[in-house]
Amino acid sequence: MKFNLNNIIRENIKGLSPYSSARDEYVSDGSTMIFLDANENPFENGVNRYPDPQQRGLKSILAQQKGIQQENILLGNGSDEVLDILFRAFCEPRKDNIITLPPTYGMYKVLSGINTVENREVLLTDDFDPNVPEIRRRIDGNSKLLFLCSPNNPSGNSFSSKTIDELLIDFPGLVVIDEAYIDFSSEKSWVSKLSEYPNLIVTQTLSKAYGMAGIRLGICIASAEIIAVLNKIKPPYNVNELTQERAIQRVSDQKSVKEEVANILKEREKLNETLKSVPFVYKIYPTDANFILAKVDDANLRYGQLLQKGIVVRNRTTQPLCENTLRFTVGTSIENEKLISALKSIV
Ligand SMILES: *Cc1c(COP(=O)(O)O)cnc(C)c1O
Repeated sequence: MKFNLNNIIRENIKGLSPYSSARDEYVSDGSTMIFLDANENPFENGVNRYPDPQQRGLKSILAQQKGIQQENILLGNGSDEVLDILFRAFCEPRKDNIITLPPTYGMYKVLSGINTVENREVLLTDDFDPNVPEIRRRIDGNSKLLFLCSPNNPSGNSFSSKTIDELLIDFPGLVVIDEAYIDFSSEKSWVSKLSEYPNLIVTQTLSKAYGMAGIRLGICIASAEIIAVLNKIKPPYNVNELTQERAIQRVSDQKSVKEEVANILKEREKLNETLKSVPFVYKIYPTDANFILAKVDDANLRYGQLLQKGIVVRNRTTQPLCENTLRFTVGTSIENEKLISALKSIV
């Protein structure tokens, strides 16, 4: 089937032109202009001016690092904002549907509820892989977004590239690959396949491997045509000045990021090994992320016992296919040792 973006965009969005802010209309060329266009307070304090609505400084570094153009990038107030913009651009409330694969990241479902868009849930298989035949069965002419979280939260595994390939080819709408954990993964990012698949959208974030959850910076990567649609919807100043500055500093320091990721991966392997010797841990799932999902004898009991020892993990027991599982984020070596000794002491 030939993918046509025009068939995917909501009618009300097609005719929309974006709000044009003062900072959009006159783009500084770096010369010493006098800015009397945006009703700002003229006294300099570092943040008295509106931020660049197109975040060009940050995007140019990201584009170079990822081998794409700035026109392929939309930045948001966390990936959660990026995902919300996708719903508002492509999903007609009470008419269109999305497909999600539980157990997975909870925001897809929350956003479908907020936007009154039907969420068709197709459970992963027992090995936490997409159930391709069942996904195919649930697709119809109103299926606009398919969310593939890879590596998946909370299971930790990556989906095979063959499976993702098949889904990109079969799905009539947009396939959103959520790569929040890609920097911990042995798999390659799908960003390199952008030119092959016109319906591919990749989302990434500075919240995990980059250690910047507090600044809220989400990244959406797609064709220039898709990004142009999203730009019509995004609030003009959705990424604030402080965030842009801190993000530029951090992404420019790849050495520190890589060292921290390497450390976390080493710690993950240590934690993985020691969890095997905890008698009430029944199963440890393979992980490609900075967390480990484990099946225990009684998740509610063990969760409460860890809490009493001052350690907060994530109890996933209510999630489909995740009965009696706990999700452990990999911490520092000292934190992980405390976790292990706590686990051993509550036997
Ligand atoms: C943590 C996480 C995110 C990050 O969201 P931000 O809004 O960028 O902090 C996105 N997707 C998944 C699957 C996550 O686990």
